[in-house]
Amino acid sequence: MSAFRPPKGTDDILPPQSSTWRRVLREWDEWSEVYGYGLVVTPLFEATEVFERGVGGESEVVQKQMYTFTDRGGRSITLRPEGTAGVVRAYLDAGGSGVMKLSYAGPMFRYEQPQAGRRRQFHQLGIEYLGVGEPLADVEVVEMGYRFLTRLGIGEVELRLNSIGDATCRPGYLQVLREYLEERREALSPDSRARLASNPLRVLDSRDDAPLLADAPSMVQHLCAACSQHYTGVKEGLDQLGVAFVEDPRLVRGLDYYTRTAFEYIGTSLDAAQNALGGGGRYDGLAEALGGKPAPGVGLALGVERIVLALGEQAVGEVDVYLVSEDPQLAGRVLKLAARLRQAGVRTDFDAARRSVKAQFRSADRSRAPIVVVVGDRPELDIRCDGERHAVPPEEITQWVTTRLHR
Ligand code: AMP
Repeated sequence: MSAFRPPKGTDDILPPQSSTWRRVLREWDEWSEVYGYGLVVTPLFEATEVFERGVGGESEVVQKQMYTFTDRGGRSITLRPEGTAGVVRAYLDAGGSGVMKLSYAGPMFRYEQPQAGRRRQFHQLGIEYLGVGEPLADVEVVEMGYRFLTRLGIGEVELRLNSIGDATCRPGYLQVLREYLEERREALSPDSRARLASNPLRVLDSRDDAPLLADAPSMVQHLCAACSQHYTGVKEGLDQLGVAFVEDPRLVRGLDYYTRTAFEYIGTSLDAAQNALGGGGRYDGLAEALGGKPAPGVGLALGVERIVLALGEQAVGEVDVYLVSEDPQLAGRVLKLAARLRQAGVRTDFDAARRSVKAQFRSADRSRAPIVVVVGDRPELDIRCDGERHAVPPEEITQWVTTRLHR
């Protein structure tokens, strides 16, 4: 034990739990490539203003959750609480025009009240589809995330969908909503009362006030023609792809820059407090809010911690072959065999500590390797696999193992 623990709300991710992480990250890389998204890497910190403008000064994230400090040069710096503002800042910096499809994975930082699935350092997987305002882009993003989650084997995922309008129709709706809420002000929770003036849309997702909000006017009833057409296009596209969704008129999302499409993936196996696996939406106003030319965009972010929680304990081994040496004198042979297998892409391990045969077998067990190769002073290797033993000449080992693994 060291004298230190990780800071409150942060975690060390180690084997064996990290093997699930690794699988999730690897599949994310592959899946975003399959959909045509290139990799984007942006700084873990930005000028504080990027988030104040890009996430929105009224948002809870900016008001209460940012890790902000002054650096040695006197600049106000913030650890990124989310990925989109930084990615759009990078897009604008690179010229801010044309279509760009970008994918990222990495840590985000928010000063939260920590609990399971709600951390101060957490990790997101995200894509941003920039430069296209058509519903087809929304459909692609929503479908990509949905299929990613279901392919992982996460169990039932419910897709919730809404439209929150744009600068044309939202102000009118907010007026109607505010009037409705003002009439019921006394019955509202203190939190909602405080939000009423600054951010009435956020009152809609208050759990405490759910009964009172059941009959509240909804944005979709007040969409302008263009937003309504867009929303219909998104729903039709998802229907065509066979992606089932539930319309949720109270889904608003926490960040201020969204326009039109808003969506969320709910893991039905998780506790209600942390069952949002991810979500996203369209943010056609963001580029301008960051001081660039207007540029449409739509994206999503998924929470790795939540995904790993939903996947649960998984008996995934990280090693295919474990080499056991019957005699410390044979270390050179073991090393060469391991190198040969590894060059063939076979996940191979052995015990470099020259411990007893018994201890090596224990390590082999722990590694969950399906194939154990015992190296002795016989010319042939003694392979243990599926409760059987096989004598295999060393020069045939790679062939034997790869055939076996791909059966
Ligand atoms: P957001 O950026 O708030 O829209 O969050 C997108 C997703 O990131 C959520 O659905 C969660 O899966 C995950 N997430 C957000 N905040 C946290 C947090 N503090 N700890 C763990 N996961 C989080």
